[in-house]
Amino acid sequence: MKLNITCIAGDGIGPEIVTEARKVLDKVCEIYGHEIAYTDVLMGGCSIDAYGVPLTDETIETCKKADAVLMGSIGGDTNTSPWYKLEPSKRPEAGLLKIRKSLNLFANLRPAFLYPQLKDACPLKEETSEKGFDLLIMRELTGGLYFGARSTETVDGELVATDSLVYKESEIRRIAIKAFDVAMQRSKKVTSVDKANVLDSSRLWRKVVNEVAKDYPEVELEHMLVDNCAMQLVKDPSQFDVVLTENMFGDILSDEASMVTGSIGMLPSASLNETKFGLYEPSHGSAPDIAGKDLANPIATILSAAMMLKYSFGLDKEAQAIENAVKKTLEDGFRTGDLVRPGEEISEDKKCGCRRMGDLIVERIK
Ligand code: NAD
Repeated sequence: MKLNITCIAGDGIGPEIVTEARKVLDKVCEIYGHEIAYTDVLMGGCSIDAYGVPLTDETIETCKKADAVLMGSIGGDTNTSPWYKLEPSKRPEAGLLKIRKSLNLFANLRPAFLYPQLKDACPLKEETSEKGFDLLIMRELTGGLYFGARSTETVDGELVATDSLVYKESEIRRIAIKAFDVAMQRSKKVTSVDKANVLDSSRLWRKVVNEVAKDYPEVELEHMLVDNCAMQLVKDPSQFDVVLTENMFGDILSDEASMVTGSIGMLPSASLNETKFGLYEPSHGSAPDIAGKDLANPIATILSAAMMLKYSFGLDKEAQAIENAVKKTLEDGFRTGDLVRPGEEISEDKKCGCRRMGDLIVERIK
């Protein structure tokens, strides 16, 4: 197969982690006989420096022509970088919202998996972390509160701010279908999260999800209120498989889910549209505090590349080969700095920088 991939390395640690993910992709393609072509484009702070804007129309067009986009991360130190003296619509992060909307990336998938080798980093009670968990948050990404009309006006002598939470049936249906499709490839359970005891948008959400569920008789569906879900995620995350939810609830719950794995450098993500096209990036930011020092953990980006093989190219075996290589590297005791707990003793030969971690994973791809 020929894989056309646009790469947005971005800012901070972005170029370092994307380099390692590309090494891994190259190795998988060599072993499994695929051809891979990369096109590099700028986005974020580096694009502001080069073109004066965080995302150009040319970059969007190049992304549209690719089969998939692999991204590092964008942005700089928000206290010191000159990019943050610009007005909000011209800052690096404005590029993120624009690219999601331009590429119609309405489905955000964030798996949260507790590696047995990293159990000690999990902040949950031992009896909970012992059970392990493997869940995926499916967050609606282009509707709801973040994209509804907003205003601040003076009414009766005081300021009143309004944000509207709007969902069309069609927007709910397409994300629900994605969630059930993904559940069919996993443990066949969907937990749909809403606030249907209060919000009209949630009642519509529940109705449409119930309709979609009829086409997936093998998938178990449960509905859960968002406040309960926030609690259950720390009480017993092993009860979840696919958690389907709207934009703002998903924003909050996916950060909570990532925290319970105890390791920000490990979590991949995929943002998909109606076709097989997707943008794949780690869940963390550009970590300007460690940029250029070979200290970043590249695993989240490497696992994002594995998600790309699975969801955009249907290359399940190849994706599994990457996931197995990551597990084996951790089993062999290798750790980047973020995976070592304060006070934990680890021998010098097991300590890795970004490049060495990438090399060790490449060596273990079968
Ligand atoms: P961050 O995720 O970049 O960093 C938080 C902490 O985690 C830092 O101490 C950092 O060193 C560490 N860290 C993050 N990734 C790591 C990795 N792979 N290996 C080892 N340590 C890692 O979050 P932040 O500091 O709040 O944001 C920094 C910049 O990133 C900001 O400009 C922010 O807007 C941007 N950001 C971008 C994205 C994106 O590109 N999608 C997402 C979140 C934040």
